[in-house]
Amino acid sequence: MSARLLLLEDDPAIARTVAYALERDGLLVTHSLLVHDARQQMLSHRFDLLVLDVGLPDGSGLDLLRDVRNAAQTAAIPVLMLSAHGEEIDRVLGLELGADDYLTKPFSPRELAARVKALLRRAGNGHTAAPAASAATLFHDDEAGQRISLRGQPLPLTRREYRLLAHLLRGAGRIHSRDALLAAAWGDDSESTDRTVDTHIKTLRAKLREVDPARDYISTHRGMGYCLDV
Ligand code: CA
Repeated sequence: MSARLLLLEDDPAIARTVAYALERDGLLVTHSLLVHDARQQMLSHRFDLLVLDVGLPDGSGLDLLRDVRNAAQTAAIPVLMLSAHGEEIDRVLGLELGADDYLTKPFSPRELAARVKALLRRAGNGHTAAPAASAATLFHDDEAGQRISLRGQPLPLTRREYRLLAHLLRGAGRIHSRDALLAAAWGDDSESTDRTVDTHIKTLRAKLREVDPARDYISTHRGMGYCLDV
């Protein structure tokens, strides 16, 4: 059975390319141009996934997201938010309101399709649903070669990134302070600061995302540090 997806997007050109990419992957796409119409569609159909733009002529996709999360029968539907470039505040708000993933315009339709499929897989609607695996079994650390693979795919890590990720992996599930990560990856290099750690965690996340767009392996714990989640 095909997954049914609601696309709320007022830009016709974006909606067309997105719908085309998703339908080619076998999804059933219902398209709404307005928040009001999307609400009506949700009353008469059951959707497996929502793709919501933020800025719409009659309101915000964030309002719909809030309502979706607050209603018991729709609370668990995966939601991917779309937003215009640079709307950082929307991204943060979207994630706080419970969006599962986020894409900033302009994005490639292929990337959107890949993220949608990953979200459906995670929600158990995909045809190739993978069993839930712990981070430890997903990663393979080749210590001798200083290489780490995720889901069988070697990650293109720099030396520092390798050391950071290897350290996080060895202590998976524990929070590591920036100081501990600095010591692990940089040793006594006095040039490095907390910011250096943040910057490298950011590039590391991007590289993990390339392989597994649906999951964020590294969580930030404000004032404490970072954790590789298992
Ligand atoms: Ca818009």
